[in-house]
Amino acid sequence: MDFYIMTLFPDMVMEGLNTSITGRAVSKGLLSVEAVNIRDYAFNKHNSVDDYPYGGGAGMLMQAEPVYQCYKSLKERIRLKRLKKEQDGAGKSDNQKKTRVVYLSPQGQTFHQSMAEEFAKEEELILLCGHYEGIDERVLEEIVTDYVSIGDYVLTGGELPAMVMVDAIARLVPGVLHNDVSAEFESFQDNLLEYPQYSRPEVWHEKRVPEVLLSGHHANIEKWRREQSVIRTAKKRPDLLEKALLTEAEILLAESVKEENI
Ligand code: SAM
Repeated sequence: MDFYIMTLFPDMVMEGLNTSITGRAVSKGLLSVEAVNIRDYAFNKHNSVDDYPYGGGAGMLMQAEPVYQCYKSLKERIRLKRLKKEQDGAGKSDNQKKTRVVYLSPQGQTFHQSMAEEFAKEEELILLCGHYEGIDERVLEEIVTDYVSIGDYVLTGGELPAMVMVDAIARLVPGVLHNDVSAEFESFQDNLLEYPQYSRPEVWHEKRVPEVLLSGHHANIEKWRREQSVIRTAKKRPDLLEKALLTEAEILLAESVKEENI
């Protein structure tokens, strides 16, 4: 999967994403991450890409044209890359398929795990980072397909949100995690939080690892983990349970935990 990040701060994004699991996935060729500098498409001699907003008000706004030119050049590169991939026989690319362009914005839909799962199915993704007071609305209307927020607070730029999205999506791309199973049984899968986990030693600060985990009895371990997931979700994120598929016994268990919590 190819990620293209349109930003005024490419180094910030690349430094963040070129380490750890995403960095390793890039060097293995499972992903590509490229931060494209919108300033390279500035059209004045001062290389500025922002201006005062019409109607007044605080702060500056990123102008439409540099963002648009940056997008157009990326779009052409993506078209050629898809074509080459097809000619090389490295898989069929759907050249008609529109590349999704995500504008990171506090006004967008709040990012969540199923959104990450949906984006992970794309061949490539363009993430557009705003700065200052944001971006001229007209170019957003022309190029953006999705508006995504990482939470109800305002950051100085879209770079951290873009990195959050790339990280969450990249780890769902097959092969990126060492063990594909580890992306399957995690918090938010089936609208439940993950069960508690323990590693060596068996006793730490006089706290013992739950006996069942040492038993080697896989069915019992699975049963215990599922119960713990239900209990945890009922305690920490009861709102998730509304969408979780629970058995009658699990519903009763969740209800009793919620009552205890009141
Ligand atoms: N004036 C804008 C508003 O009130 O909606 C906020 C602009 S913010 C200071 C600058 C940029 O940071 C935005 O264009 C956006 O790209 C990014 N940003 C800020 N908070 C964000 C959030 N919670 N989620 C995603 N992007 C965010």
